[in-house]
Amino acid sequence: MNISSTFHSPETTADAEAIYRESKRPIYLSGGQEVVLRLQHDLEHISDLIDLSNIDELHGVHAEGSTLSIGAGENHAAIAGSAVVAHTAPVLSELASSIGDSQTRNRGTIGGAIASKTRSSDWNAALLALDAVIHTTKTSHMAEGYFANGGLTEGELITRICFEIPSQGIYLKHTRASSTDAVVGVLVSRFEKRCRVAIVGAQRVAFLCPALEAALGTRFHPNVYDHSHIPDNMLREKPDASLEYQLNLVEILFKRAIHSCA
Ligand SMILES: Cc1cc2nc3c(=O)[nH]c(=O)nc-3n(C[C@H](O)[C@H](O)[C@H](O)COP(=O)(O)OP(=O)(O)OC[C@H]3O[C@@H](n4cnc5c(N)ncnc54)[C@H](O)[C@@H]3O)c2cc1C
Repeated sequence: MNISSTFHSPETTADAEAIYRESKRPIYLSGGQEVVLRLQHDLEHISDLIDLSNIDELHGVHAEGSTLSIGAGENHAAIAGSAVVAHTAPVLSELASSIGDSQTRNRGTIGGAIASKTRSSDWNAALLALDAVIHTTKTSHMAEGYFANGGLTEGELITRICFEIPSQGIYLKHTRASSTDAVVGVLVSRFEKRCRVAIVGAQRVAFLCPALEAALGTRFHPNVYDHSHIPDNMLREKPDASLEYQLNLVEILFKRAIHSCA
């Protein structure tokens, strides 16, 4: 074990980035739900732990016009309990409250979930279906581009996430008895002139279904669903969930979601 790992607790993103640049093998620490697991195996490779929890700029939930902005440092429980989120985009309150157990929700942050490269997140479906912009200390990523380009660059910090507020939205996921991770999750959102359908599943990233969105745009009804609307190769065969099983789940969850929105 490397007992010389240094713990830092900066109060600004500029300081956090400066520490990151000057450190040999640093890692940002937010709620620690992924980092702590990594430290159990990899502590000797971490020179500096940079705690983000005291940085005010990473906090706050605000709605302005058609945009809901959530600070990267907000944890899932705070988002689930936010009156602003419940009022503007209840689909995100429901999504946040479906994540993990009480400890994970009270420690794990939306920024950590989006930055994490180790597991798929329910938030990924929300990013795509609510046309989110991920603001960082270096740039702003549209959600689709963020996934397509492989996420953050070295030392880049997510500061806040801006979601388009839908007129309606619902997220449904199917889980195993042993976990709250989605085997398959479907988020349907409805805006004035368009619908979005995002799926999260065996792939680490989520994906959109443009053909299904176009079909819904013509007729907002569960029966528009067809398996051919699901892009090829985005769901992967898994030992405990065949492709056919996952596609059936997508169909069931999609139809339930449309029923709930109608
Ligand atoms: C038991 C358990 C159950 C879970 N269940 C679910 C579930 O049902 N659904 C789901 O979607 N997820 C689930 N998760 C995942 C959970 O949501 C994430 O682990 C958590 O949100 C990560 O956030 P964190 O703040 O703890 O990140 P950390 O562990 O602190 O960091 C994760 C990674 O992100 C980096 N990072 C953190 N914040 C930032 C930032 N602002 N900018 C740039 N990089 C950053 C860190 O350096 C690290 O690499 C579960 C996790 C656990 C442990």
